[in-house]
Amino acid sequence: MATGIGVLAREALMVEARQTCELLEAMFRRRADLASVVVADSGRLGLVMRGAFDQTMSGPYGYGRALWGPRPVAMAADWSPLRLSANTTVAAASHLLRTRAEQHRYDDILVDLDGGGIGTVSAARLFDALANEFADRAIRDELTGLVNRAHFLDLLVAACGSADFGGDRVVVVFLDLDGMKRINDSRGHQAGDLVLANVGRQLREAARPGEVAARLGGDEFAVLSRIPRQVAAEPTALELGRRYLLAIAARDGRHDPAVHPYASVGVAVSGQRSDPQTLVSEADMAMYRAKQGGGNQVELAVGVEAGLGWDLEAVDRTVAQAVQYGELRMHYQPIVRIADRAVVSVEALVRWQHPTMGLISPGRFLPGARRGGHLPLLDRWVLQQACTDLVERTARLGAAAPPRVNVNLSPPTLAGDFDGLVVSTLQRSGLRPDRLRLELPEDADLQTLAGAGPRLERLIAHGVGVTLDDMGAGSTSLRYLSTLTIHGIKIDQAFVAGLLHNPRDHTVVKLLTDLGHGLGLHVTAEGVETAEQLSALAALGVGYAQGYHLAAPQPLDALCSTLAVTAGGHGRP
Ligand code: C2E
Ligand code: MG
Ligand code: MG
Repeated sequence: MATGIGVLAREALMVEARQTCELLEAMFRRRADLASVVVADSGRLGLVMRGAFDQTMSGPYGYGRALWGPRPVAMAADWSPLRLSANTTVAAASHLLRTRAEQHRYDDILVDLDGGGIGTVSAARLFDALANEFADRAIRDELTGLVNRAHFLDLLVAACGSADFGGDRVVVVFLDLDGMKRINDSRGHQAGDLVLANVGRQLREAARPGEVAARLGGDEFAVLSRIPRQVAAEPTALELGRRYLLAIAARDGRHDPAVHPYASVGVAVSGQRSDPQTLVSEADMAMYRAKQGGGNQVELAVGVEAGLGWDLEAVDRTVAQAVQYGELRMHYQPIVRIADRAVVSVEALVRWQHPTMGLISPGRFLPGARRGGHLPLLDRWVLQQACTDLVERTARLGAAAPPRVNVNLSPPTLAGDFDGLVVSTLQRSGLRPDRLRLELPEDADLQTLAGAGPRLERLIAHGVGVTLDDMGAGSTSLRYLSTLTIHGIKIDQAFVAGLLHNPRDHTVVKLLTDLGHGLGLHVTAEGVETAEQLSALAALGVGYAQGYHLAAPQPLDALCSTLAVTAGGHGRP
């Protein structure tokens, strides 16, 4: 993307060809900044360079001024200066200048400006711009204008070095375009290049201050960023990956949808020590998993979890202690009726305020808790806390309190006598049964589900709501639909994420919605992150939504004060 020399030009000072050299000398004396003047003579243009003119006037042997003073400037001018249009590239102009006769090699260039005027560009300015262009070309990918591979690796090494001191984490996002081969094969390489250039622009526009987007080669791109020490690394890194995935998936109408690529994205975060090579290959491997999983998705490097292995062991041993020491915290996320944005419920999502590791998300400690057999204990604590929280909030806020609460139950809990637990917890807390809704996990096996059926029916008869979580993510919960009198289903966020750009995801969402409605169930979409997703869901007839676009999970205090929670309980549990 070479620029023309027009931007380097300054407006020329024009003098008449008949004007005397004496007058020009006086003019130069008054204007110390003037390096040259342009001489106009009925249509043709000449150039007088200050240096050469000074020499003429002062030499030889002091007679120059006497001889030249009264002569017209026309005689001192070069009548064949280098004259170029404003869009001549810096490289071309430099070449033409360098190949001129030796005495003119450092003269100014005349430039025909776009507006019709005449400008000049000094040789120094031009060669300086050329040097900058070369320096820039060494670090930039020509097709996309992004940073190139070599420079990206340089920046990564520097980032890892400095992060080691500050305790920050370095993140590498590795993006590989899906479908580029198809585009190149069917449309030709020129179309392929256009697609790559467009992706480059999308990545550049998506980059926030401190983030560097690069083209590593072919259809591989990468982003480098940092996560401050005090911020939770994994969710932030995943969020970063998703942002760039969406940036590539976004369509702006300027381009043919048939040649629109998607990306497989892998994200890696530096661990205790930051090794640039490992980081890139971990992100690459995660990208590969994303591609194998069907593409158009983000995967976090396993190395990240492996790097935290020691911490997870600690977590594993002490999740029961977390309950004992009061380190668990409830966050709540609103579930909203799309039609009028009324909050119909809040989902209770547990977090662990770890004394040394900070606030940990369930994705990181649930697997350990499961291995350690602590999930029933955890679920019991959450159930109790969620019911108590809602009763307490209702006592304070009345109708302005959230109408219901959704509580997740894990498979091991479903395998036990959880119905007795739920009923006694409701009694102890004083929460009306129809204000509690249980979310059944997707990953429970069929045997557990079958065994839990009668207990669930008992709770349903008692007034408790039951919803199937993460519908579509697996297959087991479909069985529930025909055997249990449940109230609702939640469409897994993976389908919502692909809704706008993946026709298959769109079809699955539609199918689940129709299925839900056919069975008289409430249909909730999870993971709604944009207004566009929300309106697409509304168009499909989805009644309820949950996601960052509406509100993030947060402590109940914050939720109640930031959201004007709508009074009263509209909608069924
Ligand atoms: P889930 O029940 O499907 O919960 C929804 C998850 O999606 C939550 O993650 C929530 O924070 C996240 N989320 C909400 N809005 C968005 C969005 O717009 N975009 C994206 N990408 N994600 C969004 P969280 O809190 O990390 O919980 C993860 C999973 O852990 C839950 O999935 C649930 O299966 C389990 N879990 C969470 N809390 C509990 C609990 O108290 N008990 C049990 N048994 N499981 C829990
Ligand atoms: Mg849930
Ligand atoms: Mg869910």
